[in-house]
Amino acid sequence: MKQQINTLLQETLDRLAHLEDEQELERLRIEVLGRKGEIARLFKQLGGSSAEERPALGKLLNEARSRLENAFQEAKSQTTEAAPRASRLDITLPGRLPHLGHLHPITKVGMEITEIFQRLGFEVVEGPDVELDYYNFEALNIPKDHPARDMQDTFYVTDNIVLRTHTSPIQVRVMEKQPPPVRIIAPGKAYRCDSDMTHTPMFHQVEGLMVDRKVSFGDLKGVLTIFVHQMFGPDVDLRFRPSFFPFTEPSAEVDIQCVMCRGAGCRVCSETGWLEILGSGMVDPEVFKMVGYDPEEVTGYAFGMGIERIAMLKYGINDLRLFFDNDLRFLEQF
Ligand SMILES: [Zn+2]
Repeated sequence: MKQQINTLLQETLDRLAHLEDEQELERLRIEVLGRKGEIARLFKQLGGSSAEERPALGKLLNEARSRLENAFQEAKSQTTEAAPRASRLDITLPGRLPHLGHLHPITKVGMEITEIFQRLGFEVVEGPDVELDYYNFEALNIPKDHPARDMQDTFYVTDNIVLRTHTSPIQVRVMEKQPPPVRIIAPGKAYRCDSDMTHTPMFHQVEGLMVDRKVSFGDLKGVLTIFVHQMFGPDVDLRFRPSFFPFTEPSAEVDIQCVMCRGAGCRVCSETGWLEILGSGMVDPEVFKMVGYDPEEVTGYAFGMGIERIAMLKYGINDLRLFFDNDLRFLEQF
């Protein structure tokens, strides 16, 4: 029995020296010192030994137990305190990448549009979303009783203050402040009481204005042709179609060859082969008079487009509202 006690002591100390894991340590402790462990078994066995042997064996066993208890105590404090965390962390496992966000597709397309015009020498300007009726309408040749006001479902803050229905008031503010020449591009939000597949109460526009001596409709066509080719590709055809806006005369809407069917005719373009992308025209002399420019001296062109519209055509998206739902399954595709 003496032999058994010594062997148990030696083996257990040996095993302890090679353990690093707290759980293994606890398993070994129960195996040796637990209520049904090896030490307990030996104590039971002690009852079967002779009366002469018993005191010496009892002493030996007690000593072995306290040595083991101390050894376990020490081993445990080493795993919890001193043992480096690294022993429990596998640093060879591949890391988890943090989830990176990105710009909203509308922001991206808006930046792309403004960058094309910036390369052509246009300066980026901004204006207030909450706008005076004067800048949103009157200075753009749309007086109070003008029928064109019915074309735009306006959010009125007061009788004289509106949420701007387009980004055009920015051009008036710029012309008021500086003499010609002017070459600006103005991106921003616009607001109208309207909501369906192709309209949202808030949307994004980009407005462009160029004023100088002898600016012609030819210049407008040239700049917009460069824009369309850079935005949609050099092979995309475009056409100018006569239209009406109160602040330009003559006015033209610009169509591009349908990006879905390349002009053959499909559902998206209502079988016409063309898609409208923006409105444009030569600045009406009345607008120049309002800001103190002499229409005999200078001419200019202006154009405006919806950023959502351009993004839908560029990415082939059929429902405008997807841009505003913030559904990550949609947004992650860009
Ligand atoms: Zn088509």
